[in-house]
Amino acid sequence: MATLPALGSPEGAVQPCTMVIFGASGDLTHRMLLPALYNLALDGRLPARFAVVGFARTNWTNDEFREEARKAVEKYSRRSLDPAVWDGFAATLHYISGDYASDEAYDRLNEKLEVVKQAHGTEGNHLFYLAIPPGAFDDVVLQLGKGPHARTRDEDHGWSRVIIEKPFGEDLKSALELNALLHQVFREDDNYRIDHYLGKETVQNILVFRFGNGIMEPVWNRRYVDHVQMTVSESIGVERRGSYYDHSGALRDMMQNHMMQLLSLVAMEPPVTYDGRAVRNEKVKVL
Ligand code: NDP
Repeated sequence: MATLPALGSPEGAVQPCTMVIFGASGDLTHRMLLPALYNLALDGRLPARFAVVGFARTNWTNDEFREEARKAVEKYSRRSLDPAVWDGFAATLHYISGDYASDEAYDRLNEKLEVVKQAHGTEGNHLFYLAIPPGAFDDVVLQLGKGPHARTRDEDHGWSRVIIEKPFGEDLKSALELNALLHQVFREDDNYRIDHYLGKETVQNILVFRFGNGIMEPVWNRRYVDHVQMTVSESIGVERRGSYYDHSGALRDMMQNHMMQLLSLVAMEPPVTYDGRAVRNEKVKVL
């Protein structure tokens, strides 16, 4: 089997793991996740012991999934496909089809995860990425809760983390319900509620601009700032996402997530440290 480039950082900085992508046949997986993973592979930033298991209802074999992944990378990656790196990366990709609510499908998934763990040496660490419409979150989380990868306390057989993209619920009640469901299966520290705006360079630069800058920080307050305007200018329109917008609405799509994050970063006090918890606590104080 071809191998990935060696991990750039010291062994242990990025732990071995299997990433399980639910909704592996979908748009987010094709446009974002697979190209992003491939670019990490190109930079030697994936753990040397790493694998991906795609899960969705679409009936593909491993080879068909790899072919789909190749097309996705060719179409959406920032950098073009390097055949030598691709071969190593493609060998880490696996696929299993099944229904999100079916016990039988999760039996097969869990068997596959065991095989992949042995083959790639991923040590029982699992990252579950819910790249599925929110209507399917409950089924997947409940099924994971029944299986061997549920973790509600520290245990010594590998970690289980879950990533959920926006939207996290569609109002306070449904967000709290989803949170409660996740807490039945995963520890709070293992829940990653992702807002992809936070990965944008311009957004990340706000913190540096404010707190790493001896000129700006002293005048960044109500004595010198008259008002703040935020402009979110998109270069594309609704395109083919009409049914999505009809359902969610622009306010839910942008405001309570992306705009609130920007607002918090602009208005928060300096965090005590730059770890996620300290930054989040300062944001919460603003809100
Ligand atoms: P898709 O509509 O492409 O759905 C992903 C996959 O989920 C599909 O390929 C399909 O796979 C399965 N699926 C579709 N509808 C259902 C359903 N009703 N019930 C169960 N499974 C279904 O979604 P995206 O990939 O665009 O988005 C995935 C998640 O990421 C969503 O929560 C979305 O809100 C979020 N997100 C997406 C972004 C993007 O750029 N696409 C940006 C930000 C957030 P199969 O039929 O093979 O099972």
